Amino acid sequence: MNFISTRGGEERVSAAYAIKNGLAKDGGLYMPESIPSLTEDEIKKISGLSYSERAAYIIGKFLTDYTYEELLEDAKGAYAEEKFGPSAAPVTKLSENTYMLELWHGPTSAFKDMALQIMPRLFVRALRKTGEKRNALILVATSGDTGKAALEGYKDIDGTSIQVFYPTDGVSRVQKLQMQTQEGGNVKVIGIRGNFDDAQSGVKRIFADMDMVRTLDDAGTFLSSANSINWGRLVPQIVYYVSAYCDMLASGALKYGDKLDVCVPTGNFGNIFACYIAKLMGLPIGRLICASNKNNVLTDFLESGTYNRVRPFHQTISPSMDILISSNLERLLYLVCGQKKTAEYMNALANDGGYTLDGEDFAKIKESFLGYYTDEEETKATIRCVYENKNCLIDTHTAVAHHAAEEYMNEYETERKILVVSTASPYKFAKDVYVSLRGESSALQFSDDTEALDALETYTGVKIPAPLSGLTAKVILHSDIIDKEDMDSAVVGFAKA
Ligand SMILES: *Cc1c(COP(=O)(O)O)cnc(C)c1O
Repeated sequence: MNFISTRGGEERVSAAYAIKNGLAKDGGLYMPESIPSLTEDEIKKISGLSYSERAAYIIGKFLTDYTYEELLEDAKGAYAEEKFGPSAAPVTKLSENTYMLELWHGPTSAFKDMALQIMPRLFVRALRKTGEKRNALILVATSGDTGKAALEGYKDIDGTSIQVFYPTDGVSRVQKLQMQTQEGGNVKVIGIRGNFDDAQSGVKRIFADMDMVRTLDDAGTFLSSANSINWGRLVPQIVYYVSAYCDMLASGALKYGDKLDVCVPTGNFGNIFACYIAKLMGLPIGRLICASNKNNVLTDFLESGTYNRVRPFHQTISPSMDILISSNLERLLYLVCGQKKTAEYMNALANDGGYTLDGEDFAKIKESFLGYYTDEEETKATIRCVYENKNCLIDTHTAVAHHAAEEYMNEYETERKILVVSTASPYKFAKDVYVSLRGESSALQFSDDTEALDALETYTGVKIPAPLSGLTAKVILHSDIIDKEDMDSAVVGFAKA
């Protein structure tokens, strides 16, 4: 299986190169040349397998230059019970037709672990398969969650190191502690005096700086990134949709062929796009409900066919979805209208701030996707209502999706089962979850958000997940804080250390 760019060009590369390069040479994203199929027999066969075996089987359809044994070894390492507990992506029943897919049982309690635990292993193999002799330095600018998940994924991985920059006043105390206490012999975490944009612009500038590239090359190092436009992050996300269907077959919730609707809290469009790929492969998925928060650029797009990023940016209590440019949407455009038009739409997005799809392209997208958005008050009310009526504690992102799913079911009066994707442990956003349950004034007792963890545990009796408990007692290993102008020398210093 070869990979090509969403925007055209001559490039045709193996999976190993696609994972090593991250972005195609023309600025597009890599896509497989064709979508492999998944038959009824195969789905029934893998229903009897473990999560790691299911993962190796599905990923192997796309990464044909990796052997099944290699993929199985990587999947077993990534989704080991010590890291994810007995079940990597369990499905729970909320009510008659509503089920939840929990993707936050990994080492950082958020769904990015599902991809970032296995991707570094696939990446190291890609270095070997492409004859790369240099060390890879993974550079990450983070507003919180991605940095920690990438650190946990890349720590102590051979032939790589990872350096994470976060805005020192732009992350929560829990997030900061998670990163500052990071262990591992190949990791470096640095705070920037500035905001997330300063950190991100700094990293982008370093990637584009040819002198820097040469200096690092002399030190036997090249730069790479871990963000969600890399195919190596997308492909592991297809697995849990197939796995959820298998589990629902096994429990009797579905008969083979029953269509399952899926509702995904969406930011960069990676997670929901992985579900769409699973559907194209042959998994019986019905509608894909794209749930947004107040940054509802995707809701408008799915309503009108016009993408318009020129609009106010809102900071919300579901911050991992505070995004105005959903990068992976480009992959959907490529599938519905091909490379040439995708390149045109992406040009228009960069130059004019948006684009309007041709009628037939929009119609194809509407066949599978619907968009809903949930505002801040609805998000909080949903957390309270789901806790009180269904005895289930959900985080702010999951609440956005749960509310969207209810709106959809009311509007379409469907009898189908729906799978709501749960992307973070409620403890990852403990303060906002606590306030949703107990009212605004209840936040006054907290001097910082680490105290909300204990309060939420006391009030609900739901245990704090191990990765988040005892954070304040851990040793701080990374306390550097620098000016944004000093990021370059910090990178060179770390590469040469
Ligand atoms: C990253 C993230 C999302 C958004 O996922 P996309 O793949 O970017 O659409 C949703 N919820 C949580 C908790 C996340 O960390």
